[in-house]
Amino acid sequence: MIRANDNYGKLKASYLFSDIRKKVEKYQQDNPDKAIIRLGIGDVTRALPDACIKAFHQGVDEMASDETFKGYGPEKGYEFLREKIARFDFQKRGADISPDEIFISDGSKCDTGNFQELFATDIRVAIPDPVYPVYLDSNIMAGRTGEFENGRYQGIHYLDCTAENGFLPEPPAETVDLIYLCFPNNPTGTTATKDELKKWVDYARANKALILFDAAYEAFIRNPEIPHSIYEIEGAKEVAVEFRSFSKLAGFTGTRCAFTVVPKECMIYSGSGEEISLNALWDRRQSTKFNGVSYPVQKAAEAVYSQEGQKQVKELVSYYLENADIVTAAMKSLGFDFVGGQDSPYVWIDGNGRDSWEFFDMLLTSAGVVCTPGAGFGKCGNRYIRISAFNSRENVQEAMARLKEAL
Ligand code: PLP
Repeated sequence: MIRANDNYGKLKASYLFSDIRKKVEKYQQDNPDKAIIRLGIGDVTRALPDACIKAFHQGVDEMASDETFKGYGPEKGYEFLREKIARFDFQKRGADISPDEIFISDGSKCDTGNFQELFATDIRVAIPDPVYPVYLDSNIMAGRTGEFENGRYQGIHYLDCTAENGFLPEPPAETVDLIYLCFPNNPTGTTATKDELKKWVDYARANKALILFDAAYEAFIRNPEIPHSIYEIEGAKEVAVEFRSFSKLAGFTGTRCAFTVVPKECMIYSGSGEEISLNALWDRRQSTKFNGVSYPVQKAAEAVYSQEGQKQVKELVSYYLENADIVTAAMKSLGFDFVGGQDSPYVWIDGNGRDSWEFFDMLLTSAGVVCTPGAGFGKCGNRYIRISAFNSRENVQEAMARLKEAL
């Protein structure tokens, strides 16, 4: 008898997006003339930068001739891309990362979801709340949790991110082995300073723990005080893996390219306490289960680092950041407390006593504006909504004007 992985039965069905869809459909039926504006999505809306499109086309053309055709590429990604990433994203910021510590992939969703496979089932895992759901769900699937009780899975150490701690959890008093951190954060839009990250790096070094640092929104950091990479913190190379993506940086959500940094210094431990190279283990995993990102896509990603590409991605990100400014200015004038929207495309807004679905309903019914209820990201999101800056300037302006008029 073919038996199921029972851990999948523990997953809470996520009704979030289907519930949102039903509410939006009902509203549209009741208000057929009202154009709905969606500020709930975490997907980009603008076209790929011109430099990437040109390189993408050239890559496709190379596939059309026997002389330049490429078959299977290296599982880790082409050297031309890994070399640029190491130089531009890390070495230029004083972080000593080399190309063979970089693994190109087709997305940070896969990498953040897959990485936990390298660890024992009975490790203690710390996960923020609210959180990008992939970290939690992939650990549930792997059997690292017990039952779901009172909005929480047994066996997970939750790191509450609340207004009281400025949405930045402190390292726990007890020991955990694996820690997920995400800055700039999805969904709260908060960032972490070097001092704040240093506490986590010190904790991980003291406890032989590992940090999985998701920097998918790194490109949105404008404040020069905020580190772009965890490797800007001394000692982080021993205890941290970093995930980056071209999705939000350069509009690659539908094109698919990302990378994960696994430093050579990073060690994990066998049952008998012997050191194991995490870089070698991830290499082994990827070369067994992954066959690389297509050549034209890697050429398109490489173009991000050209002079033209750098200018174009900065413009792209600035466009969304200016949208975020419009959202935060509107929230200020409406008297809502919020965080984020500064070095991030997300604004996390306190419902001022409303629960997140009530707040969602209010925005939809009064203004035809769709946001994401915070409850979808964890128990600590119950009082919040997330507004995303990923939309056209016109739509963001119109949505905020409607809210100002309605509320
Ligand atoms: N990490 C975070 C925090 C995200 O919000 C997202 C996408 O929304 C991802 C990773 C996934 O990125 P990718 O498109 O590279 O799979």
